[in-house]
Amino acid sequence: MRFRANGSFDGAFDPLDELGDLAREKDIWLHVDGAHGASLLVSDQLRGRLKGIEKADSLAWDAHKMMFVPAPCTLLFYRNRQDSLGAFQQRASYVFDEEPDRYTELDSGGVNFECTKRPMIMPLWTLWSVYGRALFAEKIEYLCELTEEIHRIVLDEPDFEAVHRPEANIMCFRYRPADLRDEDVHRFQVAIRNRIKIQGNFFISKVNIDGVAALRVVMMNHQINAEHFRMLLGEIRRLGRDLLDSGK
Ligand SMILES: *Cc1c(COP(=O)(O)O)cnc(C)c1O
Repeated sequence: MRFRANGSFDGAFDPLDELGDLAREKDIWLHVDGAHGASLLVSDQLRGRLKGIEKADSLAWDAHKMMFVPAPCTLLFYRNRQDSLGAFQQRASYVFDEEPDRYTELDSGGVNFECTKRPMIMPLWTLWSVYGRALFAEKIEYLCELTEEIHRIVLDEPDFEAVHRPEANIMCFRYRPADLRDEDVHRFQVAIRNRIKIQGNFFISKVNIDGVAALRVVMMNHQINAEHFRMLLGEIRRLGRDLLDSGK
């Protein structure tokens, strides 16, 4: 049985503490997909949002999401080190020595599937060892604060709709000018998002929430600020007006 996170589309955290207790009670393996959100662990201020994550049997975390490093840089953690030996096990006598020698204990082939690929941990390890944890914490705290700020901006704009209160660095919202009919809301958000992509000034994504499309911004770059977001709203208005006026 797998618990499927459904909060991740809007950066919300699943109730890990409760899931951890439930998994233990029912003797179920709990895997946490922390690809994006586990980065908040580096911040003393934000770590509490992942309360209960220590109950996971395994945790996937992408450093290429929020940790400044190029893709791919993915980490997989196990509660029990021994479990790492079982996960990717296979028989292949031409790769894995069945008669151990003095190098066997250094061979990482049995605990991952990278084999001959470059060790993807190096970009993260290099930055971390030069700058330490504080640099990452500062960036991520800034991005989460910025996301709260842009949420307040959306709440203040009568022609925009805030869909949720952000829990991390992702915010979903809709553009709903007064003359937009309810049955057109979905199609309109999709059309706006496609226009924005073509314009090339901003990159935003789209997500369906309760079956209706919403615009989705993910704050990843610490050089972005609220002014940039206001520029995005301006562009959405301009493109949206254009679509409505041309009847598309
Ligand atoms: C990005 C992401 C993935 C995909 O991970 P990649 O390693 O980038 O392919 C999976 N789950 C969540 C929650 C993500 O944010």
